[in-house]
Amino acid sequence: MTQSPFEQVANEAAKDEQPRGDNQPLIWDIQNEKPPDPTEVWLIQNGITFDTTTENGKSTTKYYIEDESNRRYELLSSDRPTTEAQTVIQEWRDAKVEELEKTYHIQISRDGMQATPAWKKEPVDTRTPNPLEIVALERALSRGAPSTNFSHDGKPVNIAFPKFRTTFVSGYYEHDAPSGPQIIVEPAQRDVETLQIVGIHEFAHHGYYNMQEWSDEKQKKTMQELGWQEGEKGWLLQGRDGHSYLGDRDRNKYFRVNEKGEYLDAANNVTSDVDKAVGFDPPEMRELALKHPPTAYFLNEREAIAESLTLLRTSEIWRARLHQNDPSQYDAVKKFDQAEIDAAYGLNEDGTSKLIRNPDGLLRENNMLNRLVIREFESKLKAGKYEMFIPPEYKDREPLNCTLC
Ligand SMILES: [Zn+2]
Repeated sequence: MTQSPFEQVANEAAKDEQPRGDNQPLIWDIQNEKPPDPTEVWLIQNGITFDTTTENGKSTTKYYIEDESNRRYELLSSDRPTTEAQTVIQEWRDAKVEELEKTYHIQISRDGMQATPAWKKEPVDTRTPNPLEIVALERALSRGAPSTNFSHDGKPVNIAFPKFRTTFVSGYYEHDAPSGPQIIVEPAQRDVETLQIVGIHEFAHHGYYNMQEWSDEKQKKTMQELGWQEGEKGWLLQGRDGHSYLGDRDRNKYFRVNEKGEYLDAANNVTSDVDKAVGFDPPEMRELALKHPPTAYFLNEREAIAESLTLLRTSEIWRARLHQNDPSQYDAVKKFDQAEIDAAYGLNEDGTSKLIRNPDGLLRENNMLNRLVIREFESKLKAGKYEMFIPPEYKDREPLNCTLC
């Protein structure tokens, strides 16, 4: 029996399955030989720290998430005593989950609920996201717009946090889950920026499906600008050599094909033997592509577009990386993004866009000041001043290390 790629990774993952939190060390008060304080253990397990300040006899506590990259994100302020920290934070978490559902066209899993991954066909137990996941999710939702704000078929996107891993990847999007479009976010993620990027990538997949609303002509033109040509077996990546290439996920390679998707050999004769077809590994294909895919993950047009939009939407750093990779690809991705924004939010009476995307990834009103911010940013990119935005540690980093998300 052959297994789907998802089943393969899920079976691998099941071998060393651990529920989140169970392998955390407990903190014993050795000096006093006391068992650990449950609130303190809960805070440590969730990566939460706090500062308490007292003014005029009144104490206020600020709670933070400190993630694996040692970045600190503020959660909330409370004047209740820290012995109540767990309750205070759980109340914040529950209110936040509801707020996100009201603001975006989504449903978020809760403790005791289930979700059915389309590939698995049987339900898995899900849970309420933890504070770190909520911080990352909110950052992803605000930047993933407009893909997160609506569905072309009206169904909200179900965002499911399984209790146990279902695969080895960080997360994945399924358009055809039993409940409608669905994003599975795998557990045990401990870095806000990475999880934020996963979210934006998955929301971009949803946006790609929303593109079905557009006319065929507009879709084809947009895809062409992004470097893809329609073929009978799927979208074909255009090479600088004038040939078209079809990605093969199983072989992790691109093969030269004609419009029908038939393999071509070096003399451009049709061959049914894949070993005789002209083929390239992703790094070679990235070089050869007419429009350089911005990351190494582009085995089909859906992933290439999701990665490109993720770079544009995540932060100034990644948007600068997108431009540095290929300015003409940057322009095409920006145009695609704007078309999605316009489709979702409409145009002004004079035909201009209502909203535009700021370099930090957030949508802003299309006014003179906000346009100026973008123009200033882009004039620096065009002058090649990338180091103004890209810190050295981001120079060669890939946003996602992902083969199936
Ligand atoms: Zn993907």
